[in-house]
Amino acid sequence: MGEYYFNIMKNAALAIDVGATKVAVGLVTREGEVLARHDISSKVSSMDELNSSLVEAISDVCHRDGVVLVGAGIGSAGPIDKDLGTINPVNIPHWVDFSLVDFVREVSGIKSVRIIGDASALAYAEFVLGAGRGATNLMGIVVSTGIGGGVVLNGEFHVGRTGNAGMIGHSVVVQGGNLCACGQRGCVEAYASGTNMAKDFGVDNFEAVAAAARLGDSKAVAAIDKGASVLALGLLNAVALMDLDTIVVGGGVMLADDVYWPILVKHFEKEMKALNFPGNVALKKATLGKDSGLVGAGLVGFIS
Ligand SMILES: [Zn+2]
Repeated sequence: MGEYYFNIMKNAALAIDVGATKVAVGLVTREGEVLARHDISSKVSSMDELNSSLVEAISDVCHRDGVVLVGAGIGSAGPIDKDLGTINPVNIPHWVDFSLVDFVREVSGIKSVRIIGDASALAYAEFVLGAGRGATNLMGIVVSTGIGGGVVLNGEFHVGRTGNAGMIGHSVVVQGGNLCACGQRGCVEAYASGTNMAKDFGVDNFEAVAAAARLGDSKAVAAIDKGASVLALGLLNAVALMDLDTIVVGGGVMLADDVYWPILVKHFEKEMKALNFPGNVALKKATLGKDSGLVGAGLVGFIS
């Protein structure tokens, strides 16, 4: 009987994915299975309200029979500070400079709590379980309303000094170029995010650009072409700096991969040819879908 009980115990990590409008709280196994999930809205009127709903969600997912909690991982929009455990989510003013790590540690009783950028969470999940399996030097990027990235170097998850390594969206590729949301000019994100491709075409969101491009609208295709060509420049720089073997692309813009992907591949191949590195760099579509941020946060909870 005791042996049977032992066999059904599962190791899992508490995973928290801080998104633009909601916070997903889950229990994730090493294989990426989501055993439990409880989403809360971050569009609330006070920090107390937000924190008490987080306490409720953590308590809900953590109390599961047959589960051993081994750690916790938090993925959040950057910039983060991995040592202070703070996040600075633009869309959640209640949590600016709030030490979410300390809070989660206290509420859950889990000692090992790590925080990473949301794009790093996707990169790590794709490296362990998705399109990046078998890669050694990988960058995973998220092309969405903004652009983020995360890095694996020599087979190890590389977060950098403060936890923000791989922030390709704010690498500068056009001197004196378009103003970026970060305050800098000429960032990759200022051209290549879904939001900025939409702005270039004169609409609110990337879905509208993709829909027009599907109908053969040449201005829509040109807006995508411009964004993808600037992103390819950013990727060229990343490959040149880190000698990557694999790049995995995910995020909301990839929902329109029928129109976006061939254009990105065209520009990427052109840049790689010019770089003239030995060997090919694989450009791959992310395969883990919309749960990759939550799964990646959970997988990071397993890193001791
Ligand atoms: Zn920027």
